[in-house]
Amino acid sequence: MGTNPFDDDKLHDECGVFGIYGTAEAAPHAALGLHALQHRGQEAAGIVTFGGGQFHAHRDLGHVGDIFSSERVIGQLAGGAAIGHVRYSTTGETVLRNVQPLFADLDFGGFALAHNGNLTNAMARRRDLVGRGALFQSTTDTEVIVHLVATSRAGSPVDRLIHALRQTEGAYSLVGLTDSCVIGVRDPLGVRPLVLGQLGESHIVTSETCALDIIGATFLRDVEPGEMVVLDASGVHSLRPFPPAQRRFCIFEHIYFARPDSIMEGSSVYESRKRIGAELSRENHIAADLVIPVPDSGVPAAIGYAQESGIPFELGIIRNHYVGRTFIEPGQQIRNLGVKLKHNANRAMLKGKRVVMVDDSIVRGTTSIKIVEMVRAAGVVEVHMRIAAPPTSHSCFYGIDTPQRGELLAARMDVEAMASHIGVDSLAFISLDGLYRAMGEPGRNDLAPQYCDACFTGDYPTRLSDREDNDLPAQLTLLAELA
Ligand code: SF4
Repeated sequence: MGTNPFDDDKLHDECGVFGIYGTAEAAPHAALGLHALQHRGQEAAGIVTFGGGQFHAHRDLGHVGDIFSSERVIGQLAGGAAIGHVRYSTTGETVLRNVQPLFADLDFGGFALAHNGNLTNAMARRRDLVGRGALFQSTTDTEVIVHLVATSRAGSPVDRLIHALRQTEGAYSLVGLTDSCVIGVRDPLGVRPLVLGQLGESHIVTSETCALDIIGATFLRDVEPGEMVVLDASGVHSLRPFPPAQRRFCIFEHIYFARPDSIMEGSSVYESRKRIGAELSRENHIAADLVIPVPDSGVPAAIGYAQESGIPFELGIIRNHYVGRTFIEPGQQIRNLGVKLKHNANRAMLKGKRVVMVDDSIVRGTTSIKIVEMVRAAGVVEVHMRIAAPPTSHSCFYGIDTPQRGELLAARMDVEAMASHIGVDSLAFISLDGLYRAMGEPGRNDLAPQYCDACFTGDYPTRLSDREDNDLPAQLTLLAELA
């Protein structure tokens, strides 16, 4: 479980990455960029820089603002190039040796790497490498890539990274650092996001555009699926080292993971969420007095629902943003109070009302049950829950922390049973085709799906080699460590 025990009924993006080349203040820019990406990983962060002929690194557990708050720490990270990483982890393996960027002294010099995503053949590759004598320092799949670079016989560091990645399957948006460049690369399906920006003479690769905004950089474009960009003293170089493939961007980034002020695939995430809410209203209209969001992530979809349905939007639930990390290991009694620490019913608004309550998704359903109890206790007479995603019925193996499939409510029950389990008068989810329509598509193309939607469909866009391995029990143990 994550260290914020009151967020444990949400899916979590596991990482965010940031890389910058060509500024005198690479480390402070990286720290600010990571601060903007904090929602993608709140358990650890790190920055590696290159300057004065040396690499410099600082990594720690905790929030970016705490880790990189002192001038002494930032001052030690000299240089004109930096990469950084924020991490979320659920397996109890939030230990310093797993905190990225990873760094290794290789035969060509220093090499640092930070990863958002998850390899689906990491265990097989790791087993090969260990068989050839590799000594692993961490349990991350990122280290598999570092070892593949170390053992590659290709020419330049860039060629060696390409050679390494050709041996992998799965999802990755990576930033790498050598003594002469920053590298950004996105897997051939483009499952996780990566964007390119510019600040004066310097260039940036990072997970989301909100990390460009915070440093005043201009958004240039998405790094394309299967593209590698090399940022060095002569500018930006684009390489296409992988065979073209059907793009399968994670549709859940639009629903929940990305910050609403980011631009993804040319669209404002906030606008996409409003369109999802409007589509949800068209598909699942019900008579009610108010539309209320489950804050914060349900807000844009609830606005879209309210605008489309004509039902007034109100903040019927207030979120306390100051639920900190005080209760790192709460007992059950305190855990049961958790939802009230984070959310409270706005009684004056709710009493005697029929409400449409909009949330982004249902994972285990545990938080939904408590929120419904809370609004009923505040005097609501009808609760109609509307969900801005299809039922989440499968686990993600591409860098999102999801419970085992058996723990997902939608894998265990149909919609009617879920409604009764959660205690609502009605429950409805946006349809898969409705979600695609909200993304500007005519619907899902089942022959060539336009997005990764595997957590709704089970249609995984890559092989899941580690899971297909016959040595399943041992594999699953390691998979848990690598997640
Ligand atoms: Fe995104 Fe779901 Fe695909 Fe994971 S399985 S990459 S969360 S759409």
